[in-house]
Amino acid sequence: MAVPKRRVSKARRDKRRSSVWKLATPNLVKCSNCGEYTQSHKVCANCGYYKGKEVISKEA
Ligand SMILES: [Zn+2]
Repeated sequence: MAVPKRRVSKARRDKRRSSVWKLATPNLVKCSNCGEYTQSHKVCANCGYYKGKEVISKEA
């Protein structure tokens, strides 16, 4: 079984975690219908449009 030859120093360990373990930000794009920022590949939360069509009705 593979076993680490040397202990990873605190500096190397923390550097690795700081660069890799970043929270992924949601991909924000502007809505084609209302111009509001929404997540890409998702129905717009403001107007309910997706790909130029109304998917969720916001009236009534
Ligand atoms: Zn919209």
